[in-house]
Amino acid sequence: MQIVVVGGGIGGLAAALGLRRAGHRVTVLERAREIAEVGAGIGLAPNAAAALGRLGVGHRLERTAVRPRFATRRRWQDGSDLFVDPLADVEERYGAPFWFAHRGDLQAALLAEAEDEPGVGEPVTVVLGAKCESVDAQTGVVLTAAGEYRADLVIGADGIRSAVRETVFGPVTPRYSGETGYRTQVQTDAALADPLLRDLVERNGFESWLGPNGHVVHCRFRGGREINVTACMQAPPISTGASAAQVDRSELMSALEGWSPVIRRLAELGGDVIRYDLFDIDPVESWVDGKVGLLGDAAHAMIPYLGQGAAQAIEDGEYLMRVFPGVDPSGVDGALKEYERGRKERAVKVQTTSRNNAGVFHMPDGPEQEARDARIRRGATDANIYDWLWRLPTRGGVAA
Ligand SMILES: Cc1cc2nc3c(=O)[nH]c(=O)nc-3n(C[C@H](O)[C@H](O)[C@H](O)COP(=O)(O)OP(=O)(O)OC[C@H]3O[C@@H](n4cnc5c(N)ncnc54)[C@H](O)[C@@H]3O)c2cc1C
Repeated sequence: MQIVVVGGGIGGLAAALGLRRAGHRVTVLERAREIAEVGAGIGLAPNAAAALGRLGVGHRLERTAVRPRFATRRRWQDGSDLFVDPLADVEERYGAPFWFAHRGDLQAALLAEAEDEPGVGEPVTVVLGAKCESVDAQTGVVLTAAGEYRADLVIGADGIRSAVRETVFGPVTPRYSGETGYRTQVQTDAALADPLLRDLVERNGFESWLGPNGHVVHCRFRGGREINVTACMQAPPISTGASAAQVDRSELMSALEGWSPVIRRLAELGGDVIRYDLFDIDPVESWVDGKVGLLGDAAHAMIPYLGQGAAQAIEDGEYLMRVFPGVDPSGVDGALKEYERGRKERAVKVQTTSRNNAGVFHMPDGPEQEARDARIRRGATDANIYDWLWRLPTRGGVAA
């Protein structure tokens, strides 16, 4: 079949690769002039790493992704450990590692595998500067600024403000969570040279600090040479209405007022600070109609409080790889319904749990927070969801 994927982000490239592996001819339409991701890091939990492995991308990421030695939850004021999850046996438990990667490296790995000459199926074609204006779900015609495309199947992977979703399924208004993610990157050598930070950085963990007005996550990446720092803090939205903007470091430092000197020092050492306002959507009623299916943030945009937006998009792409082999145009409707049946319940659970986690992570200090911390110390808050989440489900009991 001839397939069009609208959007060349992590989700769109995973879908394109999955559908190529399923034996189809795939064109990706991307509105940007180049395929590029911001210089930030991304946590790839074992479910994402397993799906990437099945898509055949794992070997490319292995070179630069870091495997943190453990994951922690800490107190915001003094950094005391609430919980330490030794990730040493994670591969044994879930069949895949926990990776922390550079977003650009992930996107480049997906793109290289999709466009590579050798390998299963025809290389994927990527058309840049092709902004989708509308899609007809019955005919499979996609209108773009760069011309018209006709496809047997159209996958809408064009993000939270999806034009495909808007024209086929109607308007959905993204909701501002009331929180923003400040991202900055620190050179590991500079942090190791600082006596306040050396122990923390040498531990090589995936660290989360929980405070009353936000939480901060940091982890080494790019072969360990850099540290990605993300501070998700309560804030009014960016005044210009943009969803992302470069800001002065003082904005991040005042959001961290009163936090431990250790985490403040780490934030001070970072390069540029970019803030991303955190939006999500309510679960959408339907992901599929006629020749069109939604995927990734277009289908289930979520705030990153389980670190799973991209992971769920990659799972979507990997699922397409399993549903679409041997499907011809007459089977598209049935195969799309099977995709929705197989993926929606899980993705929506992750989406709604992520939203609820804002209240759990950002409790003001007091009796409720003390009760939460006691649960975290017993390992009682996270264990159930992560045990379910980090295990990549099989389709009908068959792995791939
Ligand atoms: C602060 C922060 C931290 C995060 N941390 C994690 C994490 O640790 N782990 C994790 O798994 N996830 C994380 N996420 C979530 C993750 O980044 C997203 O869920 C994921 O990138 C979504 O991928 P996508 O391809 O579906 O959408 P997008 O990344 O939005 O890509 C959509 C693509 O479509 C293109 N496009 C848009 N409109 C059109 C159009 N009309 N025509 C053609 N092309 C179009 C865009 O240019 C873009 O390339 C985080 C998010 C944030 C904000």
